[in-house]
Amino acid sequence: MTKQQKESKTVNIDIRKDLFGANENAAAINAETLKKHGVIAFDIMGSVGTGKTQLIEALCEHLRGKYRILMFAGDLATTIDADRVASHGIDTVQINTGTACHLDARMIKLALQKVDLSYYQVVFIENVGNLICPAGYSLGVDKKIVVVSVTEGPYMIRKHPLTIKHADMVIINKIDLVEVLGFDVDALESDIREVDAKIPVFRVSSTTGEGIEKLIKALNL
Ligand code: MG
Ligand code: ZN
Repeated sequence: MTKQQKESKTVNIDIRKDLFGANENAAAINAETLKKHGVIAFDIMGSVGTGKTQLIEALCEHLRGKYRILMFAGDLATTIDADRVASHGIDTVQINTGTACHLDARMIKLALQKVDLSYYQVVFIENVGNLICPAGYSLGVDKKIVVVSVTEGPYMIRKHPLTIKHADMVIINKIDLVEVLGFDVDALESDIREVDAKIPVFRVSSTTGEGIEKLIKALNL
């Protein structure tokens, strides 16, 4: 007996659409949860070594007397960043992503279930050090902040324009090193403007504290 011949069919699975759809749903739930508890949350993205942790430390030093702050640290394997922030008296949640090179909304959703959100007012989420994919995953936060550093060389923005497109704010960090490196910050800022003419850009040194007060005002904190 032979099987009956059928007309051929093609099943079309758009993995990207399904994955991003699931992420967007979780992000919407996170946004709702944060809002319900009156918590303001920030997603801090940037390559390894741009000073994301140091920026969070500087912000926490300024803000810890005013707000109850919680920090989420996304990292492939270590607790180094969470430990650094915790040493300032800040509560932290470590999210080890294993092999994932970015945080996604479902990871944050799980993390939010493990903390008493009614206690906190501000959440800083340090994303995995990587300038490419974190930008594509909404977490459901109030602001997505990209941190670039003058130590990364002049082409970071031109090579990663999508990251700027997805962000709400750009911070140029380590501004104290501009002179010693002979770095052209204006050129970097005009690369940013090329991608998004209206995005707020702040020049900051997390080491000296330059620009931190101004940044805090811009974050409405
Ligand atoms: Mg870090
Ligand atoms: Zn990734």
